[in-house]
Amino acid sequence: MKPTTIDFGKIERLCRTVAPIDLAGVPLYIVPQSRIPAQFGGKSVCDGFTTPSLDLYLRDVIGPAWQGRGPCMVINDLPDSDEKHVDHDVEQPDPDYLELDLCRTALHELAHILERPKLYRDRKEVEPQRIIFESLVISHAVSNEKVDEPTVPPFQGHEADFIRIALHLRHRADMAGMLVPLYNFCAGRLYGLSHANRYREALGTHHTEVTAPLLARLQGIRDTMSAAESARRRLWDTCTDRALLARRAEINDMLTEAHKKASEIRDELQSCRERAKSDRADVEWAKRADRDRKQIEELQNRAMQNESKAKDLESDLAKVEKRIGKLERDEREVRELMLEP
Ligand SMILES: [Zn+2]
Repeated sequence: MKPTTIDFGKIERLCRTVAPIDLAGVPLYIVPQSRIPAQFGGKSVCDGFTTPSLDLYLRDVIGPAWQGRGPCMVINDLPDSDEKHVDHDVEQPDPDYLELDLCRTALHELAHILERPKLYRDRKEVEPQRIIFESLVISHAVSNEKVDEPTVPPFQGHEADFIRIALHLRHRADMAGMLVPLYNFCAGRLYGLSHANRYREALGTHHTEVTAPLLARLQGIRDTMSAAESARRRLWDTCTDRALLARRAEINDMLTEAHKKASEIRDELQSCRERAKSDRADVEWAKRADRDRKQIEELQNRAMQNESKAKDLESDLAKVEKRIGKLERDEREVRELMLEP
């Protein structure tokens, strides 16, 4: 069998990008069909397949890359034709097209993996002979074209949950800028299914149906809150309780005064800090210029005076800000009283 030049690491990265939490800390085995002996799935006619114990069936093929149990998928990298399972020595397909096809198959198989209750089946107690037997059964199943069974719907294994997961994964791939073909993505016509686009459209409508009432509710809450705010304002504006009105006016006057004071202190504080900074620079300059000690001392004193004044102003400002906080609380209390009937 001719090996392909496909970068399977890239396909694994795609899977981990779209399912980062599900696959965190777990090995993911993506096995190219071209590496599998015919008797263990190498004669598969499928684009890909996965089973909950596939990593055990293919342990020898995985070889040194084996890092313990993990979800496993086979993806068919052999030329896409009827010769797939007859002649493995045919010409290689265009690697670019093949890679995109394999990405699609990988996401499809990943959707099957994620649809399981667990990523893989725990087989601690199982006999090795049992694993060989199972792998031969699977190999036989994937080596033969699907036969229509009247009792089994053709889409078996690709029902609503699978389609939802698969399209979700593909949407995440889109968001990550990794474009994966949609054609046959959800198994398609051979399985009695619609085109994946139709499911996407249906999901889009479903999403709107589910979220629209929530959005409407949010809007309702916003409208109600805004109406309540207007109602409160009306009550304040039309309040006739003279005592409360006088108290509110008094507090508001004090607040205006306090804000004015704070603003003055801030301005003064800023210029004081600037003066202190420039005095310090003058001291440095005088030292470098070898000025006499008296002049340097004078400059230092000036800087210290400004620094000390700045400290006093900071403390004054803190007091005024505290007072503003208290007045604002008082004002809120008066407004609450104004709402009482
Ligand atoms: Zn499938």
